[in-house]
Amino acid sequence: MPPILTQLRRCSSRRSSVARNTAGDSLVSLHAVTAHYGSTIAVRAVDLEVKEGEIVAILGANGAGKTSTLKAIVGMIDLSGGTVRYEGRDITGLPPERIVERGISLTPEGREVFGSLTTRENLRVGAGIAGQRAYPERLEEVLALFPVLRDKLDVFGGLLSGGEQQQLAIARSLMSDPNLLLLDEPSLGLAPIIVERVFELIARLRDRGMTLILAEQNVDRALQIADRAYVFSTGRIELEGDSTRLRETGDVERAFLGLGVEDGA
Ligand code: ATP
Repeated sequence: MPPILTQLRRCSSRRSSVARNTAGDSLVSLHAVTAHYGSTIAVRAVDLEVKEGEIVAILGANGAGKTSTLKAIVGMIDLSGGTVRYEGRDITGLPPERIVERGISLTPEGREVFGSLTTRENLRVGAGIAGQRAYPERLEEVLALFPVLRDKLDVFGGLLSGGEQQQLAIARSLMSDPNLLLLDEPSLGLAPIIVERVFELIARLRDRGMTLILAEQNVDRALQIADRAYVFSTGRIELEGDSTRLRETGDVERAFLGLGVEDGA
């Protein structure tokens, strides 16, 4: 059976026994993670965990530390403190290529597709050196998930619409056959109807059992789809909890602004 489908089916059957994310093992966990850019502190002592089969939202305004937290997970930013564990192992300080090999993939903010490469070439790059033997199979699996890309295989990435580029960016991340997909603001800059399509796609991945971390400023949409959420402000977690509860309390807006909340969700 093809790798992504194998993965998704395996997760899918596992997911049903996970009782929609209230139990189950932690797939990735951050403990006291702190990161700087020079003298600027971007992430402050963040504790966060994601269980297998969950969608967890990381919410926050511009500069809140969402991207830096995702980068900390995939080894794209050096930590000044703390640890990142994945599947029970310490992956702190590993180079990004080793982390991708272990099954974590990041779709960066801004649909960073290669504009001068075709859709097919973008997807080939996504498979990485280690994935070249499995590339033809993976391509078919990914095209089954993103049928719109099949007609665009020979079109340059830069000529695709915004929505197609976002799908290509996510599809390219899936080419490395990840267990855990990190999506950095996938709805940013897209027309509302395209945002809906992107969220439908995320729901499809979720329904097939992928574990996802979704960094978003679109709070309402993110809380609709996520199981749990962490709200960041100036690099720290202001609020965390079950999405349904967070939607009911209305505390997210205050946490977003760094105003604190009276009691945790
Ligand atoms: P956005 O939605 O704007 O991407 P974010 O929540 O993802 O925001 P980060 O990009 O993680 O936030 O930024 C956290 C902090 O780190 C901010 O103060 C930001 O200005 C700073 N920062 C981010 N990238 C860099 C960089 N390359 N060099 C210096 N400072 C940076």
